[in-house]
Amino acid sequence: MGVQFKIVEEVLRRCFCEKQFFRILLVCQNNYLSLQEIQTKNKETMKKVLLDIHTHTIASGHGYSTIQEMAHAAAEKGLQVLGITEHGPSVVGTCPLTYFRNMFVVPRQMYGIRLLMGCEVNILDTKGTLDLDDRTLDILDIAIASIHRNCWKGGTKEENTEGVKAVISHPKIHIIGHPGDGTAELDFEALVLAAKESHTLLEVNNHSLAPERKKTVARDNNLEILRLCKKHDVPVILGSDAHISFQIADYERIMPLLTETDFPDELIMNYWPDKFLEYLGI
Ligand SMILES: [Zn+2]
Ligand SMILES: [Zn+2]
Repeated sequence: MGVQFKIVEEVLRRCFCEKQFFRILLVCQNNYLSLQEIQTKNKETMKKVLLDIHTHTIASGHGYSTIQEMAHAAAEKGLQVLGITEHGPSVVGTCPLTYFRNMFVVPRQMYGIRLLMGCEVNILDTKGTLDLDDRTLDILDIAIASIHRNCWKGGTKEENTEGVKAVISHPKIHIIGHPGDGTAELDFEALVLAAKESHTLLEVNNHSLAPERKKTVARDNNLEILRLCKKHDVPVILGSDAHISFQIADYERIMPLLTETDFPDELIMNYWPDKFLEYLGI
C-alpha cells in the first residue's frame, strides 16, 4: 500500500467510529487495488507509436526544424521510422525540385532510426494531376499526396472523388494526406474501398484537428473515415504533420476519435512498422 493510502487511512480513522472505519477502509482498499490493476492492464495493452511519416522541416518554408533536429526528436520519442515529406513545388515558399533530386546525400539511418525521405505532393485538380513529375517521384522513399486550398481546382463531390481515386491508384503514391480536412468534398466510402484495393493508406491528420486551423468539418470527416475503415477492414495511418520537432508523433487530437470509434489497434499502421513497410512495398 502506498504512502498516500496510509495518509487517507489515518484521516479516516480519526473521522469515523471503528465499525464505519473498517467498512470504508475495505471499500477504499478494493478500489485502490482495482485501480492499480486497471493501470497495469492499460500499460500492458497500450500500443507504442513507432512511426510518424508526415513531417516538414525548414525546407518547406514554414517549418522550423532541420532534418537532424527532427531525427533526433524522433529517436528520443522511441520511434523506429520517420518520414520527412516536404511540400511539393506548388506550395509557396517550399524547396525547389533540386532539393528532391539531391536527397541521395541524406543518410537513411540517423540516431538509430530509419529515415524515409519524401514529399507531400499536391493534387491539383479533379483529374488527379500531381505537381511532381514521375522522374522525381521515382527518387522518393515515400510519397504523400494531398489537396491544399491554394493550389486546388475542385469540382463536384463526384468529380473530386474521381480525382483522388486516380491518385490512390497511382503506383508511386503511398498515402493520401488529410483527406478529411474538408478542403474538397469527397465520398469517403469510395476512397476507402479504392485505398483497400491499391494498398494506399488514408491518413488521419492531427494538424487538421487543431482549432487554430478552423477546419470545422475535420472532426466529423475523420470519424467517418475511421468508421468506414473499421467496417471494411482497411488500415489507416496517423500523421502528425509536424512543422517543428516537438510535434513529431503527436496524435493527441486523434486519440479521442479512435476511442469514439473503438478503432482496432491492428488497423493503425503507426504501431506496426514492419507491416507498414510491407503493405506499401517499401
Ligand atoms: Zn505545411
Ligand atoms: Zn498538407
